[in-house]
Amino acid sequence: MKIYGNTLILNTFQNMMQKDRMAHSFLIYGESGLGKKTMAGWLAMMLVCENENKPCGQCRSCKNAAEHIHPDIIYAEHSGKMGGFSVDTIRNITADAYIKPNNTDRKIYIFTDADNITVQAQNSLLKLIEEPPDYAYFIFTVSDKNVILETIRSRIISLCAAKVSCEETVAALAEHGISDEEAKNAAQIFNGNIGKCLEYIQSDSLKNTVDLTKKITDCIINRDEYGTLRFLTEASSDKSVLKSVLEMLNCIIRDALALRYLPDSFTGCCHGEAEALSVGLTANACGKIHEAIEHSYSLIDKNVNIKLIVSALCGSISALRQL
Ligand SMILES: [Zn+2]
Repeated sequence: MKIYGNTLILNTFQNMMQKDRMAHSFLIYGESGLGKKTMAGWLAMMLVCENENKPCGQCRSCKNAAEHIHPDIIYAEHSGKMGGFSVDTIRNITADAYIKPNNTDRKIYIFTDADNITVQAQNSLLKLIEEPPDYAYFIFTVSDKNVILETIRSRIISLCAAKVSCEETVAALAEHGISDEEAKNAAQIFNGNIGKCLEYIQSDSLKNTVDLTKKITDCIINRDEYGTLRFLTEASSDKSVLKSVLEMLNCIIRDALALRYLPDSFTGCCHGEAEALSVGLTANACGKIHEAIEHSYSLIDKNVNIKLIVSALCGSISALRQL
């Protein structure tokens, strides 16, 4: 299992292991696509590996861990529309954690994409995390670390997943048979996020989102009110597309704003567009457009008419572009 970048996290795991001071609970957080689940799997593999150089990737435990069939590595089952964890799942895990491991001397519970874990579920896990059996380990992955209660976070090692370099992105995508050129193109859009680059190359819907967002950004730069309205309306034919476009647009505006003060501060997607915006708009205009997008986004799920949201947003953008 190859992990690109993120040496800080991997070194933390290795150091704890070598010093025989492994923590029992971890929270790996960061935006989607940064490899949080892969790192959680890597840590679990290291914990069950039978060889000296952990994780060796060759022993039976490592191989079973890689295939997600290791009996002592338990992935908490997601349930419901929101993909949280049911009361039954949490209850079963809490009971299971007091039963000794099957094949190895450790048992690992992994809660992937735990952003929708309820407060009730967290409270049920609290005691277990506070005083875990010697052999039990818990790993959570989330986009936003604030969804995890402070009472749990204070007892858990929080690690932030990082973006990787362009070279690492290209190397990672090559493993999926993607050419250097295609990989570099994707890397320019989704700076340092291997998962997003892969999704962009493999999924038409993300390509469509990127395409629409770039067109809207160009219209904002060129003060083309009609074009802004036209492409936002096109995006609004599907709520989820509109949300993705607004998220991406917000990211570009945020970067445009940051670039005005720190030339190397680019973090999100579509570097070229962010740079053009930072030159074409004042900081005040960027800030106000950011607020207008946030406001529109918050209205989408509140049953407000989508056409009204889009036209109000266009109105706000065109009024502020004069700033
Ligand atoms: Zn191994």
